[in-house]
Amino acid sequence: MTTFQVDLTNCDREPIHIPGQIQSHGFLIVIDKTNTIRFHSDNVSGFIPRIKNNILGKPLSYIESLFENTQQVNVLTQLVALGKINGYEQINPYQVSIAGKKFHLIISNSAGFELLEFEPARSTADTDVQKLIGRSVAEMLADKNLQNLLNNTAIQVKNIIQYDRVMIYKFAEDGHGEVISEARNEELESWLGLHYPASDIPKQARDLYKLNLTRLIADVNTTPSKISTDAEQAEPLDMTYSQLRAVSPIHIQYLKNMGVASSFSISLIYKKELWGLVACHSYTPKYIDYRSRESAKLIGQILSSALEFRQDEENQQIHESFKNSLDQLAKSLQNNDSIDEALTQHGLNILQLTHATGAVLIYEKKLSRLGITPDEPQIKSLIGWIEENVHEPLYHTTNLSSVLPEAESYTAIGSGILVAELSKELGEYLIWFKPEHSQTIKWAGNPDKPVNVNEHGLAKISPRHSFDVWSQTVQGTSEAWKTEEISSVTRLKEEINYAINLKAGALRLLNEKLRSAYEELDTFSYTISHDLKSPISTIKSYAQLVSRAPDFGDKERGMIGKIIERANDMNFMINGVLEYSRMGRSDINLQQVNAGTLINNIVKDLELIYDAKNLNIIIGNTPDLLGDPLMLMQVFANVIGNAVKYSQKSAKSVVRIDGKIDEAMVCYSISDNGLGIPDHDLPKIFDLFNRLSNVGDIEGSGVGLAIVKRIVEKHKGKIWVESELGKGSTFHIAFKR
Ligand code: ADP
Repeated sequence: MTTFQVDLTNCDREPIHIPGQIQSHGFLIVIDKTNTIRFHSDNVSGFIPRIKNNILGKPLSYIESLFENTQQVNVLTQLVALGKINGYEQINPYQVSIAGKKFHLIISNSAGFELLEFEPARSTADTDVQKLIGRSVAEMLADKNLQNLLNNTAIQVKNIIQYDRVMIYKFAEDGHGEVISEARNEELESWLGLHYPASDIPKQARDLYKLNLTRLIADVNTTPSKISTDAEQAEPLDMTYSQLRAVSPIHIQYLKNMGVASSFSISLIYKKELWGLVACHSYTPKYIDYRSRESAKLIGQILSSALEFRQDEENQQIHESFKNSLDQLAKSLQNNDSIDEALTQHGLNILQLTHATGAVLIYEKKLSRLGITPDEPQIKSLIGWIEENVHEPLYHTTNLSSVLPEAESYTAIGSGILVAELSKELGEYLIWFKPEHSQTIKWAGNPDKPVNVNEHGLAKISPRHSFDVWSQTVQGTSEAWKTEEISSVTRLKEEINYAINLKAGALRLLNEKLRSAYEELDTFSYTISHDLKSPISTIKSYAQLVSRAPDFGDKERGMIGKIIERANDMNFMINGVLEYSRMGRSDINLQQVNAGTLINNIVKDLELIYDAKNLNIIIGNTPDLLGDPLMLMQVFANVIGNAVKYSQKSAKSVVRIDGKIDEAMVCYSISDNGLGIPDHDLPKIFDLFNRLSNVGDIEGSGVGLAIVKRIVEKHKGKIWVESELGKGSTFHIAFKR
């Protein structure tokens, strides 16, 4: 019926749920919606000798008529009708007698068909099984310890089905399995602790095991019975829920190679996934009837829920401990101004959020290391790799060196990593490290050689023969990252994002306040200086008037002279402040400015004020500028003026002015051979009222450069200075083009 040919390339896809045949210890009849027989196993007549003709197309009642007359009329039809409404669980197994033999009828549904499977029923008293189960369950659950629970289960299953060996087999994440408990006849060697490669139980078999919880292979040496149908184009019969489904010839060969005659297995399900199997072997053919299989299944289900309960309990404890740490960290994030400090500086830190042994935080260009971590260059290189290769916000591996070979040098520290990205653009991450968890795995046969190679060097489809223990030491691998660890880190990320947003909000608010305070201050200084101007001029005028009084001597006149001088100073300063705040408030009148003319005018004025003989002002290139003409005038007047002013004490003051253009900027430099500025004072010279101590009696108010800086910044330009004390200074001013 099924035409699928198994070969090396597709054995993982062999459609084992539609084998087209059944195991021959029972027989199968399949009816459609109208209760008409559509499929049957070819061995039907072997079980019901009265069948002489083809039964395909006959109604279900035909089969009923062949049962011994102890049965009710129409019993099958009624059972099917009932099962369609309530499900078949209550009905199965239904006992019937055919040709003096007792059978269990097990009915299941399969895509519009009903499968009626007849299996031999053991005559052993059913009550025994009931009692056995009661006892088994009590004994199984007697111990709280997980390993004892598993061991007791294996023993109880062995008691019920009387097989030679019962193993509890647990699947790892990669699909391979390990025998974690075993009950066996004394003469057999132990397989406890042996691992079986994932290929021993292909994926589609595992999928099937989740749907149909038990499987019996009654005798590997019997020939399966084919399924016939009358429909030419019929879809192959889906036997997912069948009891008699024939198994893959490869699996049969596998069992034969192991010396197994009968095999039975029960699925262990944890959170809807296949956690493991109770795998049972008999070295002589041993049929287990439906009731015993169901009892064993019940034991498996009880174990599954016990496992689930224990595991949930354990997970809950881990979850609680991570949650407590996280709650405290979240508080400290809220109470601390620095994210980095909150996460790393206290006794409770990000290390307590997982079972990792080391952690690093890269935040605001700072690297903080906690616990045992690779060294800084290794971490930096790891981050480089993460930036290029990790594209998910949360990434983890238990075998870093398999993806990043250089990590081989620190497997003892970081075989496993869990990475939480805070910001890819800013290169900000949290990384946890787990050390190598070196382990020796005892494989039942070499897992890398599941396929035999014949004498011509060609692989042939047959399962491996050798089950000799094959030891392998697994290196460079850490313990797994648990779901609880991953969700703990996910929550931490949310808390950090929340804290960052909160802080950004607070910063914005602060900025806003600062700006309005700044504006207020500007207005205030403008008003004050403006209002001070008139009382000062009054003081000055009255002082001048008083100084003319005839009865004043030189001393008095000198004192009044000082008042006038100070009033002048104050005026000078107030004008400076006024100018400075005016600069902050006025709008720019942006236009193309002829810098050559502007600079030449300034220089001409300066040559008038200072002694031209002692002055050499060299004007180089003067490229045009884009700016406010009046403001630019102020910039150059101040800087060139300073250059002349602070080089007066040199034998001959030399001032050079030169402009250069690059792609985006026009940059002017004004250099002199004057006093120079000490290094530590360089940052101060643009502050308001800041005059350096080396200026001596050279006049000034300390306002000029503050105004210059304000203007340059208003033009979105830059100003900076280079200077050598006693040799001279060069001011650079760059304007946007
Ligand atoms: P001032 O009115 O004092 O010149 P500025 O704001 O123009 O005020 O300059 C601030 C201070 O920076 C000056 O007092 C001086 O100490 C220093 N300074 C400015 N230009 C030069 C220069 N070309 N050479 C040396 N020192 C300078």
